[in-house]
Amino acid sequence: MLSVTLGPGLLSQVFDGLQNPLEVIAGKHGFFLPRGIDVFPLDQRKKWLFTPSVSIGDKVEAGQAIGSVPEGRFNHKIMVPFDLKGTAEITRILEGNFTVEEPIAHIKTSKGEERELALAQRWPVRRPVPEKMLKSRVVKRVYPYEPLTTTTRIIDTFFPIARGGTACIPGPFGAGKTVLQNLISRYSHIDIVIIVACGERAGEVVETITEFPNMPDPLTGGVLMDRTIIICNTSSMPVAARESSIYTGVTLGEYYRQMGYQVLLIADSTSRWAQAMRETSGRMEEIPGEEGFPAYLDSSIKNIYERAGVIKTSDNTEGSLTMIGTVSPAGGNFEEPVTQATLGTVKTFLGLSSGRAYKRFYPAIDPLISWSRYLDQLKPWFDKNINADWVNEVKMMHEMLHRGEAIYQMMQVTGEEGITIEDYIDWQKATIVDMVFLQQDAFDDVDVTVSSERQQESFALMKKLIIQDYKFKDKDECQEFFTKITGLYKNFNYSPVDAPAYKNYKQEITALSDKYLSI
Ligand code: ADP
Ligand code: MG
Repeated sequence: MLSVTLGPGLLSQVFDGLQNPLEVIAGKHGFFLPRGIDVFPLDQRKKWLFTPSVSIGDKVEAGQAIGSVPEGRFNHKIMVPFDLKGTAEITRILEGNFTVEEPIAHIKTSKGEERELALAQRWPVRRPVPEKMLKSRVVKRVYPYEPLTTTTRIIDTFFPIARGGTACIPGPFGAGKTVLQNLISRYSHIDIVIIVACGERAGEVVETITEFPNMPDPLTGGVLMDRTIIICNTSSMPVAARESSIYTGVTLGEYYRQMGYQVLLIADSTSRWAQAMRETSGRMEEIPGEEGFPAYLDSSIKNIYERAGVIKTSDNTEGSLTMIGTVSPAGGNFEEPVTQATLGTVKTFLGLSSGRAYKRFYPAIDPLISWSRYLDQLKPWFDKNINADWVNEVKMMHEMLHRGEAIYQMMQVTGEEGITIEDYIDWQKATIVDMVFLQQDAFDDVDVTVSSERQQESFALMKKLIIQDYKFKDKDECQEFFTKITGLYKNFNYSPVDAPAYKNYKQEITALSDKYLSI
């Protein structure tokens, strides 16, 4: 079974699905990978400063920290091997500078076996890291209870993803999956990002590994790569590497979660991974299921997403692994097996539509087909941290959008003249929610990332505009009004919170809408 090496020095690396470090390989062999090479994933010469946190005679359990080394700005916990059964006693513990393979401690298990520990340990990728520790209750699973802040309005407000939860982003080619996953990994409030880039063409992956790493990290001022690991594969890599890439990524994610970090894993696109699985299955002459995928496609997808979650360790640190996968169904047909199996597993569905992408309504998440189970599941959190009406208000706003669409469809048949002014106003209201709240400008320095507080403030302003009753002479006046408000609102979105313009636009919006109040 394929195993990975877990230890300091994983961050900022680019690996293939078998954890070969691609930069090292490129340095040795050039850019065309020779067959069958196997390179140690971590730097074998680098010395890490190890500071122990246990002493001789201490009793330890699987996953418990025995000390740490600084890895960039992270405190990398060195943990007792995850497969240890029962408790063991520390019989030797060192302090100082060590490579990842040198011994730093000895333990004696309850059965009297001696084991030597190094900074790095190995783990089979198909087995969840906490599996045994959950059984022996060394770690506990905690139900995801708070949202992950992505700073993308349509996600955080309408279709939230829980910290430690799961989401999928299906969408046809060119709908903006990769751009969205880059935005999410760049701006989400998390410690560590793992990107599993499964590309059709090598070019898709090249963008991710050349542009992404050098981007500034909005949370720390460093570069993003300092807190990122990329697992990358293209169609030209061996099928085994392509198939294992997601498992490798998840295992690395579970490793940092075990240290108490908030980890985000993004897999783009899981369809390529499923294709690798189909190839392997075909070669093994297994009985194919739907569209040639193996019959276990469903359970394989479930097994992967089930490894997301919040974990509490015995020393009460809490870490999380949130998983987001994009799916690229051929022709944008969501009925195909990979999309369907994924939809049956994840709790947030952010469906991209080519129609919205064509109109350049970005992010092209279609509010009429998307959903999030977390809106209800995290209600206690929203009640406590925003307000007790939040979830209902979001649902009301969501219904508005559906109503707007229904009116729009009607107008397609009857023309603008065929509908009442009341319906016309409702359609305009739904449109403005879309234009200034659901859409977000990734090319504007301010609008690209919106804090939760600002989203809530904007939502309150939006709500005020929506629930008001207006009086207009005719549809032209109504249209003129909403066009003006939309313009002001966009400028409001582009203004930094601390700039005078922010307050001014807000006041202008309120003043203008008050002029047309029906009393
Ligand atoms: P996919 O991965 O779904 O095939 P991409 O993410 O590569 O699609 O997006 C295709 C193109 O659409 C991008 O190159 C960009 O021009 C445009 N695009 C996608 N999302 C956005 C966005 N949020 N803002 C602006 N342009 C976008
Ligand atoms: Mg893409």
